[in-house]
Amino acid sequence: MNRVRCLVFNSALGPLDYRVPAGITVEPGSVVLAPLGPRQIIGVVWEAERLPGTEVPDAKLRPLLQVLPVPPLPAPLRRLIEWTADYYVAPLAAVTRMALSSTAALQGGSTVTEYRLTGKETARLTPQRLIALDLLHDQQATIRELSEIAGVSDAVLRGMVNAGLLEPVVVDSDRPYPPADPNFAAPDLSDLQADVAAKFVSAVKAHAFRPFLLDGVTGSGKTETYFEAIAAALEAGGQVLVLLPEIALTETFLKRFEARFGVAPVTWHSSLKSSERRRAWRAVANGTAQVVVGARSALFLPFAKLGLIVVDEAHEISFKQDDGVRYNARDVAVMRAHFEKVPVILASATPALESLQMAEAGRYERVVLPARFGGATMPDIQIVDLRVEQPERNHWIAPPLVKALKDRLDKGEQSLLFLNRRGYAPLTLCRTCGYRFQCPNCSAWLVEHRLSRRLACHHCGHEVPTPDACPECSEPDCLVACGPGVERIADEVAEILPEARVALVTSDTLTSPAKAAEFVEMASNKAIDVIVGTQLVTKGYHFPELTLVGVIDADMGLEGGDLRAAERTYQQVAQVAGRAGRGEKPGEVLIQTRHPEAPVIEALASGDRDAFYAAEAEARRDAGAPPFGRWAAIIVSSEDEAEARDAARGIGGSAPRLDDVLILGPAPAPLSLLRGRYRYRLLINARRSTELQRVIREWLDPLRFPPGVRVAVDIDPYSFV
Ligand code: ADP
Ligand code: ZN
Repeated sequence: MNRVRCLVFNSALGPLDYRVPAGITVEPGSVVLAPLGPRQIIGVVWEAERLPGTEVPDAKLRPLLQVLPVPPLPAPLRRLIEWTADYYVAPLAAVTRMALSSTAALQGGSTVTEYRLTGKETARLTPQRLIALDLLHDQQATIRELSEIAGVSDAVLRGMVNAGLLEPVVVDSDRPYPPADPNFAAPDLSDLQADVAAKFVSAVKAHAFRPFLLDGVTGSGKTETYFEAIAAALEAGGQVLVLLPEIALTETFLKRFEARFGVAPVTWHSSLKSSERRRAWRAVANGTAQVVVGARSALFLPFAKLGLIVVDEAHEISFKQDDGVRYNARDVAVMRAHFEKVPVILASATPALESLQMAEAGRYERVVLPARFGGATMPDIQIVDLRVEQPERNHWIAPPLVKALKDRLDKGEQSLLFLNRRGYAPLTLCRTCGYRFQCPNCSAWLVEHRLSRRLACHHCGHEVPTPDACPECSEPDCLVACGPGVERIADEVAEILPEARVALVTSDTLTSPAKAAEFVEMASNKAIDVIVGTQLVTKGYHFPELTLVGVIDADMGLEGGDLRAAERTYQQVAQVAGRAGRGEKPGEVLIQTRHPEAPVIEALASGDRDAFYAAEAEARRDAGAPPFGRWAAIIVSSEDEAEARDAARGIGGSAPRLDDVLILGPAPAPLSLLRGRYRYRLLINARRSTELQRVIREWLDPLRFPPGVRVAVDIDPYSFV
């Protein structure tokens, strides 16, 4: 009797056993189609001894239907999936789903019909057709995708095909990517860079697990050195995974990669078209995708012969996923390297305290690039004490920063103002009755966006047009904006420097790669004098004429009481400061603050990074916080307030009493209403040695909740809202 155990794509079901009918061969990792009741379900054949299952008698087993035409998930990936599910207390099926992230890819090789403009415009041109003609330039995609790009219906496009305006092109959906050339344009490394690169190269050649922390100041050539490691992996015939935070995954990076290796890398991120996703997934699985540059979800791709992993900007909090399976891609990347037996490079100018601690403990090998490449110096950092140097009423740029901006404009140099807040103002209220605009779905204020004339919630996306009168007291023209967002700062710059050319850079203005490329082009050609931006401008960009960086409000991140607040402020300000003086001219950074005495501000001012990290580590040690102690959160939510509260109390009531585990709550979460769900939270603090996951599993597993209640476990949480 040939029976196998499968992990099926349904988190509510455990593993299921099936009979393997004659004519089908499977092995661990095989992706299969199996019957489930009257339906069919996708599953993955797993080693039975690793999954406790039900003992259904042989005679009752149903046969597998089909093995899907993709390579079996490799053993190292299966081990990674198990580890991730175990560590983050997540269902195995949910983690496995992340590995099979393109259902189209599972259907086997095929062709797709895409369409492009013929260039003939003989047919009758309706307004809709004109729109399509305008927007579909240089595009080739399926009808469905084109209809999304152009914003017209499928019917309009089909009509255009019939009229000869669009023509079909049959493409092989598995056409191979052009090969990268490891020697296409190798740089001359400085001696120090060469030493670092040599370490990476020998680690790649050894094909063994070896974690590196590449700790180098902004502009020191971290990218150039890990490119050498990539070249070595390519020479050895291995694949490479480069993880970047989504915002750093820019045209700039891809262009730079292409300049070094002759071709663009394969990219993997949330906005890929389904055909691109499918092609990339299959090429990763069959080993022909050589270098994949992707956001955190690329971590679970089924690489056939991985040779190296790089996590750039490894300190970025966007590597932490905060819904679904709540994993930290930086940490899972190290585990993947462990299971694949390959080196992993975590690169950052401002490493996470956790990573530095791992280096100190000897678990990671720290390699350092202490100076900028080519003699460029680090910028000079000045603190502007807002209590002394007060901006005018309803203004946010203090006199010293105003003066510095004027000075740059006179000299024809560029400036960058940083404020990590989109929109015009974070709070809008009525001058007459005091009414405040609040999101109906979240416990949060609506943020005014003047460019789009809307009030928007940054948590759930709820939007309303900005009204002319107060909805409460009907008084016209009575709304007041409180506090600044980047749009308001851009207005202020226009007021102080009417002749300056100002560019606003946020996710509301750089809405496409084309717009981002246009911005880079204009900034590089000195068609912009002042850039005003959110965290979108803190990384990746290299503008040699940019000599002044102003941080509008360094204290903003320190509010909110999050355990990593100081560290995050340090990282963000250091990163944005790193944009100044990257060319021949030295840079200057002005940091506006009301707390010049705060340790993080003092450390930024003095450039004494080590002192900051030492003080921060001390504070965390005292608080039993990571990396010295462990935290976990249990978040209970429901659309019904009472139901959420009762469930949270139920969990609190059955909390285990353990000496070394401290349980706080349940209490309403700081964001007690989010996307229409009421939220309660419990926080768990434990010693490092505690088996926290086991404690949580044994605590929660026996509990049952009404169907409307969701209970999420967040191990090593980053978000405390
Ligand atoms: P980081 O990744 O540490 O911020 P980069 O690798 O981006 O540093 O290097 C900063 C700038 O210096 C880039 O424009 C890069 O091309 C240039 N650069 C660094 N090292 C070299 C080198 N060895 N030869 C030529 N240019 C270099
Ligand atoms: Zn909302």
